[in-house]
Order: sequence, then structure tokens, then C-alpha cells
Amino acid sequence: MTTEKILIVEDNPINRELLRDLLRARGYKVWEAATGPEALRLVKASPPDLVVMDLQLPGIDGLAVTRAIKAEATTRHVPVVALTAHARKSDEAKAYEAGCSAYIAKPMDTRAFVRLVATLLGPQEGGGHETISTQA
Ligand code: MN
Repeated sequence: MTTEKILIVEDNPINRELLRDLLRARGYKVWEAATGPEALRLVKASPPDLVVMDLQLPGIDGLAVTRAIKAEATTRHVPVVALTAHARKSDEAKAYEAGCSAYIAKPMDTRAFVRLVATLLGPQEGGGHETISTQA
């Protein structure tokens, strides 16, 4: 069994650490990027199995980074999970339009998050969209 590689794109170091710890505990190999350009460089150098993308990044935002990943033939198959602090329906629609496979609102339900990652990496390639909302 191969170890799946996940790239976390998140400018907030505390959120990045949380995501890293969650995914490492599940046995995934984790890469990290704090900016869009850094993320694109890593993705192009060696496509990961999945990308966790904060949509609110300084400079190039997560939607633009996702579009760039989806525009490249060598990386467009990589599923992108969008993370956003703004849980508005219009943002969700924008995330799917940009090519994201799933959308998670912060603060996120960590159990649901790891389940979603496992599902997206699993043998069953789902074509649908999954939405997780943790708003009470
Ligand atoms: Mn951010």
C-alpha cells in the first residue's frame, strides 16, 4: 500500500498545524504551502493525491490556485478540498466552479473532514460534490 500525499495550502500557521496533525495521525504524507505560488510549485513538481485548499490566501486566492491546478493536464485529476471561513452559498458555488471536489466551512468538524479525505482518496471515484457544514 502506498502512502498518499496530501498538500495543505493554508496561510494561517495554527490551522496548518491542526490540519497537518490530523492527517499525519491518519498515516498520510503531508506537504505544506502557505501561499498560492508555493502551492503551485509543489503541485507541478510532483502532483499530490489530494490538496486541502484554504480559499482565503494572501495574493493569489485559493480559487485561482485551484483553477490553475485544474487547467494543467498533469494535475487536473488531483481532488481539491476547499476550506473557507465564509460559509455562504455563493462561495460554495464558486468553489465548485473553480473545480473543487468538496467544500468545508471553518470551524470544521474534524471527524467529518478526515472521513471526507478518506472518501476522496478511496477506490470509489465519486463524481458528486460533498458539503460539510458545521454551523450549529
Ligand atoms: Mn487564510
